[in-house]
Amino acid sequence: MLDAASEAKSKSLFRSYYKVANVEIDNLEKREFGFGNFEKKIMFRHTAFGGGDELHRYLTGSVPAFVSCSPSLYNFPSARPMERKGWIGSELVFDLDSTDLGLPCQEKHGRGWVCSICQDAVKSECIKLIEDFLVPDFGFSKNQIGINFSGNRGYHVHVDSEEIFNLGSDARKEITDYISGEGVSAKMIFPMIENKNAKLYGPKPSDFGWPGKIARSMVSALNSGDESLISLGMSRSEARLMYENRANIIMGITNGNWDRVKINGRERFWSGVTDRMKVRQSDSIDGNVTSSVYHLLRMPNTLHGDTGLLSRKISSVGRLADFDPMLHSVVFKKGEHDIEITRETQPLSIGKIDMERENSGKRLTLPAYAALYLVLKRYAKFVA
Ligand SMILES: [Zn+2]
Repeated sequence: MLDAASEAKSKSLFRSYYKVANVEIDNLEKREFGFGNFEKKIMFRHTAFGGGDELHRYLTGSVPAFVSCSPSLYNFPSARPMERKGWIGSELVFDLDSTDLGLPCQEKHGRGWVCSICQDAVKSECIKLIEDFLVPDFGFSKNQIGINFSGNRGYHVHVDSEEIFNLGSDARKEITDYISGEGVSAKMIFPMIENKNAKLYGPKPSDFGWPGKIARSMVSALNSGDESLISLGMSRSEARLMYENRANIIMGITNGNWDRVKINGRERFWSGVTDRMKVRQSDSIDGNVTSSVYHLLRMPNTLHGDTGLLSRKISSVGRLADFDPMLHSVVFKKGEHDIEITRETQPLSIGKIDMERENSGKRLTLPAYAALYLVLKRYAKFVA
């Protein structure tokens, strides 16, 4: 828990942001809102506002630590239970979070901390979702896709299209199952894989869906060089041999003949390849964000109560590669604050600050954004 002085200071910084911020969203009066304090992300929901001014008054008056709103639109957004709201439709949303990626770094620094490896990995997952699934397989155009950094360690991807606006939960679940490769296994791609004496027939690059994806990724790895093949899980000697014979192998794959692909433990290998191609989405306690239309998500241009960073809209899919959350989501750039470290930190890069590990008990004077970040992460407290 935050101590009283740290909470008061954090709240006053948040208020100073909301006083000048332009927090808007289209169809604001048809959305359900939920708010949280510094301890709990959603304390209450089923709230609605008549317009932007009303919301602005609420944000500057109550200064919530978390502001969430529904991707769904309703006729009566504040009605309850949910069934009474009169659901109109919803964008298609995906929730990606670095803690779902099973990264080795997380065992070192724990779930509460976010390092640059975490940030890069979840960004890659986001690019994979868009470039490998939403655009080629579902045919959405990039200008129908919106991306928001969550303000901590994840992204929300929104698809705004008339075709999906009215889809019910079951259809949304089919989309999410496809993207997470539900039911996709080595045996599904190569039905004969368990029979070691049979010729290995499999998908062609022109095939639709997961089989075609696997074939295309293999051809692309073969063309890219042995390092790409090693990154798929091949040994160095297998990769070398495959790369040398690539012309022949690619010709085989083009016709669905995979017999020239010689790999030891091919079942394990193909399971590894398919696993890496799946998109790992967040599954919260109350179900998957994509299939349930009743979720609330962080509102763009609001602050994240665990970091003080901005939940930021990224202007286009093309800008995502260059987006650095620890630089581009930094808000409180004016002023410095004194803090005391209360728990040994991990190395931290934020804004213009590069810090090594700091020990508990140490006092530091830092720019407001870095001080606030460490306080809200519960690694420090504000001192007067
Ligand atoms: Zn990490």
